[in-house]
Amino acid sequence: MDNVIILRYSEIHLKGKNRAFFENILKNNILAKLSGIDCRAEFSYGRYVVCDYAASDEAVIVKRLKQVFGLFSLSKAKRTSSEPDDIFEAAKEICPAGGTFRVTVNRADKTLPYTSVWLASEIGGRLLSFNAALSVDLHDPQSSVFIDVRDRATAYVYSASEPCAGGMPVGSAGRGLTLLSGGIDSPVSTYMMAKRGLKLTALHFWSYPYTSMEARDKVIELAGILSAYTGEMKVLVVPFTKIQEAIHKYAESNYMITLVRRAMMRIAERVAEKYRCQCIINGEDLGQVASQTMESITVTNAVVRNLPVFRPLIGYDKIDIVDYAQKIGTYGVSIKPFEDCCTVFLPDSPVTKPTLRRCEINESKIENYDSLIDEAVDNLEVFVVPGK
Ligand code: ATP
Ligand code: MG
Repeated sequence: MDNVIILRYSEIHLKGKNRAFFENILKNNILAKLSGIDCRAEFSYGRYVVCDYAASDEAVIVKRLKQVFGLFSLSKAKRTSSEPDDIFEAAKEICPAGGTFRVTVNRADKTLPYTSVWLASEIGGRLLSFNAALSVDLHDPQSSVFIDVRDRATAYVYSASEPCAGGMPVGSAGRGLTLLSGGIDSPVSTYMMAKRGLKLTALHFWSYPYTSMEARDKVIELAGILSAYTGEMKVLVVPFTKIQEAIHKYAESNYMITLVRRAMMRIAERVAEKYRCQCIINGEDLGQVASQTMESITVTNAVVRNLPVFRPLIGYDKIDIVDYAQKIGTYGVSIKPFEDCCTVFLPDSPVTKPTLRRCEINESKIENYDSLIDEAVDNLEVFVVPGK
């Protein structure tokens, strides 16, 4: 009898002819996640199992597998032959010390010399004789013994399934450029799009010395937390100081934020194309601040010509985003008090209903605007955050 971990995948079974494509990416992501741990992963049709690991590594393997998008649930199980005696030995180990229970059998191999109903009552009966503190309740049991008999050589016996991260395997939906600010929202939007299968590259706008070294390091630290889910992630840091200074110098002050955000999106599209990203992602949330009104989003979006911009948080309440950030483990770092470049040269009353025409008039007043954008794109710094 071995200890194994059974893995179940989520939406991939809906994928029809493309299923092999999704499965291959998922397998590679699982293997990458388990690298460095002495264990083996077996991928047979519809049944993924991790085995041959030391008992002391089980907790870390489970923790890592729960961070792999595309997995729906897992079970710590005993693997035995299909012989009822072997199955009973395993069932004894996983059954509870007392209370009500039920045995549920799934029999994939219909040539076996017993039926599911027979095996369930046989193992249930033996467990009752083995432990007088147990009783059977088929309808609302306190615990369960699941027996999944695959073939003559193999049955799995387990008591529970634990939820995994769900979603689609990272890399199965293409690549996206995520705008990562160091605030609460953008790590969550990054996580959400990785969960839908995007491989991500992060882009951060950094206005040193108005924003500190710590502000940049904070973004890299956030990428480190996210990399448990996203795998290795490049963080591209764009020197943004000169652009902000130029906007501040030449443009109307109440348009400062709007124009900064348009510059960000212009640069983002250029960088996305350079790094072969097929979309841009940000953490905007309708109505949250002046730069996230319909009018602001319209004029910001207007500079992006070719790529879709995804805003997975657009309909979320802040309180729900905070909950999400806590759940994925980014909140504690996000609230470290380092300034983001959006707060540099902040006007007293930012425009909440900017017009495209005024944006364009203001931008035309900025000396060498296009070459400042080129320079920012050309001088970005690349940090590679390894997958955890
Ligand atoms: P966050 O909590 O993610 O910082 P926010 O509520 O502070 O968001 P804004 O500052 O208006 O909102 O930014 C909206 C989005 O623009 C952010 O979620 C992020 O995707 C992007 N963004 C803002 N500042 C930066 C930056 N310095 N570098 C990269 N992206 C940024
Ligand atoms: Mg912010």
